[in-house]
Amino acid sequence: MVLRTGLPITWLPMHHLPFAPPSSTAGSSQDLDAQRCYQAMADKDAAWDGLFFTGVTSTGIYCRPVCRVKLPRQANCRFFETAVQAEAQGFRPCLRCRPELAPARRFWSTTDAQAVLDVLDELREKVVVGRTSSGAIREFQLRYRYRFRLRSSNGTELIPDTEILLTRDINFNETGALSKESEEALLYRDMENDLVLQLQRRLAAVRQL
Ligand SMILES: [Zn+2]
Repeated sequence: MVLRTGLPITWLPMHHLPFAPPSSTAGSSQDLDAQRCYQAMADKDAAWDGLFFTGVTSTGIYCRPVCRVKLPRQANCRFFETAVQAEAQGFRPCLRCRPELAPARRFWSTTDAQAVLDVLDELREKVVVGRTSSGAIREFQLRYRYRFRLRSSNGTELIPDTEILLTRDINFNETGALSKESEEALLYRDMENDLVLQLQRRLAAVRQL
């Protein structure tokens, strides 16, 4: 997920899903429509990538609509708005389509933009938080700092400068240095997912005003 400065946003309250692809405006349903999601999977339709995720009950794996694996039976499919929700239900990310890397565009659209998200600062830090009695590093904390501002398309400020700080602790173990790197990447991805949810909540709150 890459959030860029000046990214236009279309309002979508959390309970309203964009169940038409972003390019389409006609006939969009307000509810997660299993039949349409399943058809998008069958078509491997890239227009839907990042808009929903499919958990497959027979395998315990969740996928993007564009995944190349064999189409599961519809009865075994559960559809989720976000990767985080699929994981909360116990589904593991597919190693083929890497759903945790899907574009976070569920609420982004370059057409029909009603607000613009300015990313003022995005910072990743790794801080030592624990040492052994001999002074060796025992524990790190990964920090993901994200500062943004939201304004309407005519320039009115909707959310002033706001900082979101997310953290994850990670044990240090020299022998596992390589696997630590991928663990860190996963933790950062997890924080990015968290960030998207937090942004969605804040956007939905502004939308109510
Ligand atoms: Zn997959």
